[in-house]
Amino acid sequence: MPDILKNYSLRDLNTFHIDARAKYYCLCRSIKDLQELISDPVFLKEPGLILGEGSNMLFSADFDGLVIRPGILGREIIGEDKHSVQIQVGAGENWDEFVAWATTWNFGGIENLSLIPGSVGSSPIQNIGAYGVEVEHTIERVFAMDILTGQKLTFEKDACRFGYRDSIFKGSWKNKCIITSVVFRLAKHPELKLGYQQVADKMAGMDRQDVESMRKVIIEIRESKLPDPDKLGNAGSFFKNPVIAADDYDSLSTSFPEIPSYPAPAGTRKIPAAWLIDQCGWKGKRIGDAGTYEKQALVLVNHGNATGRQMLELAKNIERDVEKKFGVKLKKEVNII
Ligand SMILES: Cc1cc2nc3c(=O)[nH]c(=O)nc-3n(C[C@H](O)[C@H](O)[C@H](O)COP(=O)(O)OP(=O)(O)OC[C@H]3O[C@@H](n4cnc5c(N)ncnc54)[C@H](O)[C@@H]3O)c2cc1C
Repeated sequence: MPDILKNYSLRDLNTFHIDARAKYYCLCRSIKDLQELISDPVFLKEPGLILGEGSNMLFSADFDGLVIRPGILGREIIGEDKHSVQIQVGAGENWDEFVAWATTWNFGGIENLSLIPGSVGSSPIQNIGAYGVEVEHTIERVFAMDILTGQKLTFEKDACRFGYRDSIFKGSWKNKCIITSVVFRLAKHPELKLGYQQVADKMAGMDRQDVESMRKVIIEIRESKLPDPDKLGNAGSFFKNPVIAADDYDSLSTSFPEIPSYPAPAGTRKIPAAWLIDQCGWKGKRIGDAGTYEKQALVLVNHGNATGRQMLELAKNIERDVEKKFGVKLKKEVNII
């Protein structure tokens, strides 16, 4: 039976570095640990929360229940053909260490997702994406455990219902299953995704046109734009980019001709939330220790000792101002606990 620790500090387990505490905390290093945990009286009595690396979470208060950390490790090549390899990776592996390993072997498909914080087990949950790539394109299946019964579950790719920062694990399976491992299919002869101008420009200056160079370029771009959570607490983009009906976009662009937008599915348009927030004067502002990043208004930052409640208050003020000015409701990408 894994240890269940009491009154556990979560400060180093969330990238906002909010000093919240869990009434109970349990690190599970195997499926057996998880299966044993779910018959423990603490599990049966207390509300539960699954925690990866806490890079997409804001603790607005202490957690009055059991925090479960799936720490299952391991990377294994379980199949291959002429063009690709199939790799099963434990949920507790660090995402970026997996990307680094894959690019060293010249396995392609996830290099554009370099330096995204978090665990492998969380990657399918919001279908992590960056620089024109979403992880769904490399996922073949997801293994999980039913929290109520301890039964092992397999979600083939189609059953994961991936969408923009979305999947079935944020919908009908939210908090009902624990992802234990993910099976990826990566290319042996990768085609680089150069859709982003900045990425293409930097790649043009690289000697080698391979996934390792791509990883270097992506890391360089990300480090120039996003704060390192170890130095300045944050959870990346706090809000999703709103997707609005084409008609609504037309009327908005009459009032705000300079509004940027990108095509989105079924006659809709996607608007950069950062632009909306910036236009409301929030970029680089701070109220006490809660603020927005000086280079990117979409990133909310903890300058030191902000509480979760103060961060949430800031987010609400931003939402209110954006809705008042543009009539657009921002939706949070970060999970509020
Ligand atoms: C600086 C920075 C940059 C970022 N950039 C990007 C980006 O470019 N693109 C992007 O998509 N995201 C980005 N993010 C967000 C974040 O990195 C991802 O959402 C990541 O996948 C979260 O992983 P995590 O392990 O920290 O999850 P957590 O924050 O711990 O958890 C997220 C959610 O998943 C659930 N969960 C976690 N593990 C499991 C599991 N094994 N089984 C079931 N449920 C589980 C939790 O209960 C919670 O609901 C960024 C974050 C930061 C801090």
